[in-house]
Amino acid sequence: MKTRIAKDFRWEMGHRLPFHDGGCQNIHGHSYRLRVEISGEPDTNGMLLDYFDLKTIVQPLVDMLDHSFICDESDTVMCAFFRANPMKTVFVPFSTTAENIAQYILEYLKKEFSKINNKRVEVLTVRICETEATFAEVSSSIF
Ligand SMILES: [Zn+2]
Repeated sequence: MKTRIAKDFRWEMGHRLPFHDGGCQNIHGHSYRLRVEISGEPDTNGMLLDYFDLKTIVQPLVDMLDHSFICDESDTVMCAFFRANPMKTVFVPFSTTAENIAQYILEYLKKEFSKINNKRVEVLTVRICETEATFAEVSSSIF
């Protein structure tokens, strides 16, 4: 029977949206929550993927992002600031909306899942929450 399992991750990260007319153009941060959900057919033991293995795949990404500033490479103000004041920064080629961050994480995890030899995992879904009340979600087949 097709089954979905998920694991949640959290980290703190700063960002800003230079194009935004409201408060989001200012430097601010979120306690991001990530839900990684996979679906497929469990094995004869009733296991789709060991949660430990799921954490092994996702945690390096979380560690990379935690307490960083995720910076749009086209944000000349912030790029100049971080050149003058080096600190933990993750440069990305997109505007750092929740939607785009979800897509970025989905593409990262698709590559990581393709490296493990688990053909049971068919669909990967990534949900990013910037607040308790909002989320952006993207989904893709792995193969
Ligand atoms: Zn924000």
